[in-house]
Amino acid sequence: MFNNLSDKLDKALHTLKGHGKITEVNVAETLKEVRRALLDADVNFKIAKEFTKKVQTEALGQDVLTTLNPGQLMVKLVKDQLTELMGGETVGVHLGGSPTVILMSGLQGSGKTTFSGKLANYLKNKKSKQVLLVGCDVYRPAAINQLQIVGEQIGVEVYAEVGNNNPVEISQNAVKYAKANGKNVVIIDTAGRLAVDKAMMTEISDIHKAVNPQETLFVVDSMTGQDAVNTAKAFNDILNFDGVVLTKLDGDTRGGAALSIKSVVNKPIKFIGTGEKMDAIDVFHPDRMADRILGMGDVISLVERAQDQYDEEEARKLQKKIAKNQFGFDDFLSQIQQIKKMGSMKDLVGMIPGAGKAMKDVDIDDDAFKGIEAIIHSMTPDERSTPNTINASRKKRIAKGSGTTIQEVNQLMKQFNQMSKMMKMMQGDGGKKMMQMMQG
Ligand code: GDP
Repeated sequence: MFNNLSDKLDKALHTLKGHGKITEVNVAETLKEVRRALLDADVNFKIAKEFTKKVQTEALGQDVLTTLNPGQLMVKLVKDQLTELMGGETVGVHLGGSPTVILMSGLQGSGKTTFSGKLANYLKNKKSKQVLLVGCDVYRPAAINQLQIVGEQIGVEVYAEVGNNNPVEISQNAVKYAKANGKNVVIIDTAGRLAVDKAMMTEISDIHKAVNPQETLFVVDSMTGQDAVNTAKAFNDILNFDGVVLTKLDGDTRGGAALSIKSVVNKPIKFIGTGEKMDAIDVFHPDRMADRILGMGDVISLVERAQDQYDEEEARKLQKKIAKNQFGFDDFLSQIQQIKKMGSMKDLVGMIPGAGKAMKDVDIDDDAFKGIEAIIHSMTPDERSTPNTINASRKKRIAKGSGTTIQEVNQLMKQFNQMSKMMKMMQGDGGKKMMQMMQG
């Protein structure tokens, strides 16, 4: 996420941090580089200029040059301004009204249908809502089809009217249907066009008037940079929407859209899409995003994701097994599966402070676990539960069966043994032993 921008800002601020003595000249030089980094990220010229001006004013006001650690203070000022630029506060989705009607707007291909599904899934699982998805794209049967597939995947009902080509009517009927069928959230996916055009704007505006949504969200592809900002403006002029959804932030986006949109339309970014899968949705937190851009990681989100996957019952079972020395390869496998559920490896690494930068050139692929999984799958159930029965000839068979080498099997065995030992040590009063070990 925003690798290029992170890199450039890091370099800009590094110069400052590296300098023994900080003068007005190198503060100005740093800010010039910060501005260049923002422009390269496709941030609007005026916004970038305003940004550095604000940081400079703050720096002067706080007398940065005389503080103990001017470099760190400058980083903080940049971070605060980045947070501010992206909206400052976290703003969630309004869930008033019965039912709550959420209207999706945006261009074709922006990720509206995918996001409608993600939001439905999120509201169903996290807020225990009964959701109805509504397909209003009467021009492309494939679009309704896509929504139906998504609905099936997440177990959410989809409302569509085959043969009716009036989206205003469909959306009104859908709201009635929702009321009659105990749904408390209605998400209306509308038709988009490849570019802003009058017919589309009239249509969405008519739907908007007819259903009077509690929440109108504008979905935009973050890869489109400045164009994203222009489209946002056009939609906002017509709809006065409530919030923005930035999709495709998992791609190699430069960051311009995320950094400019709030200033231009004065509406908060509420959600981000970080992948094609239904769980690749995050509430947008400006401060955490600023941390990530500045390479400070995002430990809070990482912990939240871990908590989401945390299953107390499973954890208790695992603890018992460790205590009884019964931790086996099947448990190892299920640990790997839990980690995989937390998101793509690249995304996770980006949340660890410093790691994103350190590993930016390393090609982290999600197949990293494949070899390990193949090896474990090639073991017999007995071998998995009592790994110390795996002798040389068994290793040979396992390597052959999994298409790996004996060295790879050995390496996994070694990792497994280390992990088991560590887990054992962390149990009971072992925590103390561990502390003693660390203290030497
Ligand atoms: P719509 O025309 O606005 O409804 O857009 P779609 O929902 O059909 O999305 C267009 C394409 O973008 C599809 O191939 C989606 O899988 C993809 N897409 C949507 N959101 C994301 C995202 O957050 N990340 C990535 N990588 N792809 C996405």
